[in-house]
Amino acid sequence: MAEETRTAGRRAAGAAESGQTQRAARSAAGRRSRETRPEQVVVADPPPEPDYPRYRVEPGAGVRLADVDPDESEHFGRKKDAAPELARHRDRIADLQARLYGENRRSLLLVLQAMDTGGKDGTIKHVFQGVNPQGCQVSSFKAPSAEESAHDFLWRYHQRVPSRGMIGIFNRSHYEDVLVVRVKGLVPEEVWRPRYEVINQFEQALSLSGVTVLKFYLHISKEEQKRRLESRLADPDKRWKFSANDLRERGYWDDYMAAFEEAISNTSTDVAPWYVVPANTKWYRNLVIARTIADTLEAMDPRYPEAEEGLDQVTVDD
Ligand code: AMP
Ligand code: MG
Repeated sequence: MAEETRTAGRRAAGAAESGQTQRAARSAAGRRSRETRPEQVVVADPPPEPDYPRYRVEPGAGVRLADVDPDESEHFGRKKDAAPELARHRDRIADLQARLYGENRRSLLLVLQAMDTGGKDGTIKHVFQGVNPQGCQVSSFKAPSAEESAHDFLWRYHQRVPSRGMIGIFNRSHYEDVLVVRVKGLVPEEVWRPRYEVINQFEQALSLSGVTVLKFYLHISKEEQKRRLESRLADPDKRWKFSANDLRERGYWDDYMAAFEEAISNTSTDVAPWYVVPANTKWYRNLVIARTIADTLEAMDPRYPEAEEGLDQVTVDD
């Protein structure tokens, strides 16, 4: 890691402790946006590919999903070409996660969204292999229960935001409340449209409390979804995953694309950026996401707490 990054981390950590001066607040804001642009501070000599920052949606820039090629896999031809790099990023995540847990001051929230069969479950399985389960919490959100529906829409998500030291993974998220809810007309536009701003404020508030937020849209094509649904139907061990509802949702493909495009364009911010990840090729998707997470954790620069004084003199009785 670059010495500059370490110094920045120490400076940010020192400022947070010294109270709520304006300088501390400015330094914290700077640190937060460095964390969500990790390539600017991490890895003095980065490998040339994959160039994940190009998948980040810059705040205010908007995104056209049709412009992102879901088949992209750069120079990697086959799964085994990418395997060593994926393994390296997994190891980095495991090491940095242990530090985040030990430090016990901040947390990381990952949001995964995609069309059905888009690969949310596969991403969790492959990217988090080797990470201590004690430091991770996966939350999968389905249609809300009666109790959840009786509250404001953020209620159930807020409860699952990772506590200090933890990595939280949202398999579907508060974004469903501007996606499925919009496409299926579950609430009128006057209700869902203001939610973009509510979501931005929610994520800003999380960031102020030490939660770094990263959001991934796994971008598959309609043809790829057809192949994946057919393979679920053909394989007895995958049939359980098939739901007739997936076919109904597929019928709304264009409406979902419009809803994703607008949601992503309106909610990619400095403190909680969206990445539109090409996801027709599963191992490439895993590689991009693993590297983005590893670099972000590295920019957060979590540290084990100082050990107690005088441990050198300590002996353990027989
Ligand atoms: P799965 O992820 O395949 O288990 O499916 C979960 C289902 O829950 C999907 O059909 C989602 O559209 C639906 N779902 C998730 N969140 C919400 C929400 N806030 N409102 C309505 N439906 C939702
Ligand atoms: Mg499903």
